[in-house]
Amino acid sequence: MKIKSAITTLKLKYPFKTSRGPARHETETMIIKLEHEGFTGWGEVKPSEYYFGETFAVTAEVLKNAEKIIGNNPFQLEDILNELKEFYPNAPASLAGIDIALHDLICKMLNIPVYKYLGLNKDKTPITSYTIAIDTIPIMLKKLKEAQNYPIIKVKLGTMEDIKIMRALRDNTDAVIRVDANTGWEVDEAIRKINELEKFDVELVEQPIKPGNYKGLRRIKNNVNIPIMADEDIVNSKDIPKLAGCVDSVNIKLMKCGGIHEAIKMIHAAQTFDMKVMLGCMIESSIANGAAAHMSPLAEYADLDTHLLITNDPFEGLGNIDGKQILSNASGLGLFPKNI
Ligand code: MG
Repeated sequence: MKIKSAITTLKLKYPFKTSRGPARHETETMIIKLEHEGFTGWGEVKPSEYYFGETFAVTAEVLKNAEKIIGNNPFQLEDILNELKEFYPNAPASLAGIDIALHDLICKMLNIPVYKYLGLNKDKTPITSYTIAIDTIPIMLKKLKEAQNYPIIKVKLGTMEDIKIMRALRDNTDAVIRVDANTGWEVDEAIRKINELEKFDVELVEQPIKPGNYKGLRRIKNNVNIPIMADEDIVNSKDIPKLAGCVDSVNIKLMKCGGIHEAIKMIHAAQTFDMKVMLGCMIESSIANGAAAHMSPLAEYADLDTHLLITNDPFEGLGNIDGKQILSNASGLGLFPKNI
């Protein structure tokens, strides 16, 4: 088993701003390549310092040891991923990259697509939302116009103009609208704003307040009608029981939890506690979004659009028709490199 990696810059069509930080024009991601017996498995690592202080330097160390741990047994996913998790509990994106690449590799060796390996029906991928990040209202309206083929829009809020933004957008679209405050509100402010958002027919509100405030989340949920979803509050399967009764749904991301293997566990745990699941993403290329798309028939919601928001996706093969992800019948993730 050989592992190669390269960091590449993803260029965004529009500056990407949420309530958690300044606008980003580009972002770095790492593409991983596993080589074994003439087969290639592709993976992607998008570390986030927000959760565990994870960086590409951490990934480099994880990859060095992963080569030894995987050895010549890429099919022993359970053992490999559990051992890596034990060594590196705070490197979920690095582990996700290895997990994705291993799934791609072993499915290519078996000559089946990943969704088939997982026992899923490719026709059941949920329609992905298309994200409109924070900007001036005229630019947000321009983005809305460009997104007219997408039946579900996700609007980033957490600004001084939240209600004005929502009025402007709702006046110009009949699409389903989801809202993501990215921790931008206080508890009372959230209750007031979410109740005001009701008139704009909002499907759900993601992460209204800072993480760790379960009492606050529960109070919000009990005082509004729009369903509440946790994102920054949910990292891995251990967080699911803590959020039971505090939110209606959780946003699971491969880069937060460690990959497909852990995400499946989380989905089953969430279902046990009657919570719905969104599969979401960081700003990633179609490798990581494609991996999540292959398992997305397990989820009620998908927010896997960031490869559509960049101008230089290093891979191709993940289709999208009017927001519905189209999975290829090619083996593995069904993705092929371009411009790398
Ligand atoms: Mg979110």
